[in-house]
Amino acid sequence: MIPSVLPTYSRAPLNFVRGEGVWLVEADGRRFLDMGAGIAVNVLGHANPDLTAALTEQAARLWHVSNLYEIPQQKELADRLVEATFADTVFFTNSGTESAELAIKMARKYWFEKGAPRAQIVTFTGAFHGRSTAAIAASGAEKMVKGFGPLMPGFTIVEFGDHDALRAAITDETCAVILEPVQGEGGILPVPDQCLKGLRDLCDETGALLILDEVQCGMGRTGKLFAHEWAGIEPDIMMVAKGIGGGFPLGAVLATENAASGMVVGTHGSTYGGNPLACAVGNAVMKIVAEPAFLAEVQRKSGALRQKLEGLVAMHPDIFESVRGVGLMLGVKCKVANVDVVQASYDTELIVIPATDNVVRLLPPLNISDDEIAEAINRLDTAATSLEAKT
Ligand SMILES: *Cc1c(COP(=O)(O)O)cnc(C)c1O
Repeated sequence: MIPSVLPTYSRAPLNFVRGEGVWLVEADGRRFLDMGAGIAVNVLGHANPDLTAALTEQAARLWHVSNLYEIPQQKELADRLVEATFADTVFFTNSGTESAELAIKMARKYWFEKGAPRAQIVTFTGAFHGRSTAAIAASGAEKMVKGFGPLMPGFTIVEFGDHDALRAAITDETCAVILEPVQGEGGILPVPDQCLKGLRDLCDETGALLILDEVQCGMGRTGKLFAHEWAGIEPDIMMVAKGIGGGFPLGAVLATENAASGMVVGTHGSTYGGNPLACAVGNAVMKIVAEPAFLAEVQRKSGALRQKLEGLVAMHPDIFESVRGVGLMLGVKCKVANVDVVQASYDTELIVIPATDNVVRLLPPLNISDDEIAEAINRLDTAATSLEAKT
């Protein structure tokens, strides 16, 4: 008999009843150190007092009114994002997938309004942009698209890292390029700064809009508010979600005035997108995460975590191969199956997340302490030792 919850996930038998900071607690009191943060979502940890206060204060006043009316919390959050980024305007969504949908619509509408319609969008192997019919077509990965055809047409998928193929794919037919500055699901693969700069130039030469998917790597995860800042370039459109709500479902599409020029009244909408409750939390997240001192701490802790991980790789050469990533978005490439490392970590009450390319991801809350980083390393060390004993 089919489970009452549609079984599209393979779930670990863990049942958390509450959280505090980087800790997740089961009913029997077992405390797990959470280095996954709900897949890069809980940027300020669990039950963060500032976020809880913002949520409960707003919850007691007003949850939802619809976008038929002014929403001051939404305007405040849009102003904060515009102030902190390249963007001139923001549309709020409830998820990364919805942000991808709007980004695609916006790019196509831009060219339609120019009177020279272009529909072709260049994407990359290993990319992940969500699970809608357009987003799976953008990724093209067989495990995501098989059985769901006909796929939304218009995507040209280039081998990640193949510069010649990329140059050939971006033509004056290209409406936009969609890229994650750090591939997340694809295995924590940062795009080198030079490549991002080169891509920006290619887009400028051909007129293609540059859409960055910062759903996973954004919101302070890399030690900058958004990952593309490291390369000193600016996109035309950016997708955001995950960390922006700190655990409350919230996403956004940020755009320049030019890129957004086709999106006039009636061209897009969302019943829930940017509702008062979600934006109250989003504002509380931004107040903390966008602070330069907070981001500097992320960079410092990244260095500490990375150094300790390199040490673990050296100590367990049969288990681990290498460390990669940026900020607090780090991946450890494994020699044994990554799912075995994840399971052995669960046994030490440590949560890590598998990714493609046999990688284990560490995406901790950004406010993790130095002691908690050291404890995570201890537990990963124990997990690796137990795996060595088995091989
Ligand atoms: C998670 C993710 C998405 C999809 O976000 P959902 O909120 O699950 O719809 C899109 N892009 C990237 C890079 C992601 O990591």
